[in-house]
Parts: sequence; C-alpha cells; structure tokens
Amino acid sequence: MRIPRAGPGTIKTVPELPEVEALAADLRERAAGRVIDRADVAEISVLKTYDPALTALGGRTITGAKRYGKFLDLVTEPDGAGPAGGPLHLIVHLARAGWLRWRDSLPDQPPRPGKGPLAFRLRFTDGAGFDLTEAGTRKRLAVYLVTDPAAVPGIASLGPDPLDDAFTPATLAAILAGRRMQIKGVLRDQQVIAGIGNAYSDEVLHAARMSPFRLASSLTPDEVTELHAVIVSTLREAVARSAGLAAGDLKAEKKAGLRVHGRAGQPCPECGDTVREVSFADSALQYCPTCQTGGKPLADRRMSRLLK
Ligand SMILES: [Zn+2]
Repeated sequence: MRIPRAGPGTIKTVPELPEVEALAADLRERAAGRVIDRADVAEISVLKTYDPALTALGGRTITGAKRYGKFLDLVTEPDGAGPAGGPLHLIVHLARAGWLRWRDSLPDQPPRPGKGPLAFRLRFTDGAGFDLTEAGTRKRLAVYLVTDPAAVPGIASLGPDPLDDAFTPATLAAILAGRRMQIKGVLRDQQVIAGIGNAYSDEVLHAARMSPFRLASSLTPDEVTELHAVIVSTLREAVARSAGLAAGDLKAEKKAGLRVHGRAGQPCPECGDTVREVSFADSALQYCPTCQTGGKPLADRRMSRLLK
C-alpha cells in the first residue's frame, strides 16, 4: 500500500527550524523599527490569547524577531509617545500549511473575516506589513499576544534547541539514553528537541546513514556523536541556504535543498538507489535503503497490521 503523496513539484513545505529562523532574520531586516498601526484577525480561531487585546499593539515599535523551536516571536516595545508598558510578544506558529507574506502596501481598512487563505494581518503606520495565510477552511496556524513567551504552552514545553551552543553531544546522549522509541519519532518530538519536523528528520537520518526505525536507546556513543554533528550541520546548512532570502523564496529553497524527503521514487543523490517511502505515525517518511537500512526496504507497519 502506498501512501497518497504529493508529486515532486508539490512537496509540502511545512515550516521547520531553518525556515522560521530565516523568516525571523527577514523580519529583523524589514520590520524592525517600524511602528504598528493595527493587527487584525480574519479568522478568529487563529488567535489563542485575549489579554492583552490585539489593540494593545497599536503604536508599538517592532524591536526584534526571534525563534523558539518552530515558533516565531516578534518583539514589540511601547513608543515614548505611545501606550505605556513593557515588551509585548506577538508569537506565531505556522503549523503545517501556514505562511507569512510580506506586503509593501496594505489597505487602510481591516480585512473582512471569512473565506480565503488570509488568517491574520499586521499593518505598519507606513502601510507595509504582512499577512499570515493558510489554505483551507480549518486554519491551524496560531497567533498569541503575550508579555512572556513562556506563557505559550508549546514554547514552555520545548526541548533544547539544536542550534544553541548548549546542545552538545552529551545533551543528545542524555536525551536518547533509555528512550525506547524509534529515532525518527524522537527527532521530531518538539518536547525532546526543538524545531525539527518531518522533513529535516528524514534529511538528518539520511546524512547520518541511520535507519529511521533504530531504537533511540540502542545508539552507541560514537553513533550519538555522529548524529549530533549531522543534526547541527544539516540545520546550519539549511539556515545558511535560506539566509538573505525573502519569505516568498523560502519554500522553493527548502524543496531544492532536500535530498530524500518528499523524493520517493527518485535516485538517492549519494548512491543512486531509489528513495523509498514508508508510513510513519500520521504521515510518511522517506529514506534510502542502501544508505540507511543495509539495502533492505523497511516493512510498512500499517500494512502488516492490516494483513494480520
Ligand atoms: Zn543512498
């Protein structure tokens, strides 16, 4: 049984650590120093907080953009002449299909709620701003306005960030020790390691020449050291490729940079074997049998269950 999957031209580009890092960098360039005119939700379900209200953003200046795992944080400070108070953090989680689109010119009028991909809009006093969009009627992207990023449950529970200097081979060894879970599942669990999703966990395991089904607790110390190096280099390379790209160009860059993820049926760039796919959790993973599983295709557990 094959999992229905997008064709090569339409690989799903779920934003992960490198893309959110690049979005943060792009917003530090474009948005920092601008004064917020207004924030509007076009789809009410995306706004997860109500105090402070979105109107508290009016008159504030963007002073920075940060990333926590796959969360984007726009830091705002009150203007001298504007409303009083400490920093407010506008936090965005793009979920599986959300995206940020910078706009050089936005209408004065707030968007009308309802159909279409628009979920949220931030407009600056100079007329520029950005839209958060997500196709489909059920929007999963999430927006929070908080005084402390740790008030967002998904941020409070994040595991260590792999691009943090504190993420050492010893950190990874402690994470994997005694964990009787497949390594693929460990890598993309946000509460274990922050920022890696379905795509980059496939890429990391391919670069590490490791089976996605390896039991995390079974890795030798040398394998842990190697895996650590590959996690850091894979993510750093992806961030470097994305650096300087505007939000609109990030998706294409991500697709072009992936070696096995979303490439079932295509030749492995390392060895030429055919990249394969097997179901995993709620989706599918891609891997190269020659590079990762001693040439043997992984059994599709979903299918085995059906046959029992
Ligand atoms: Zn290969």
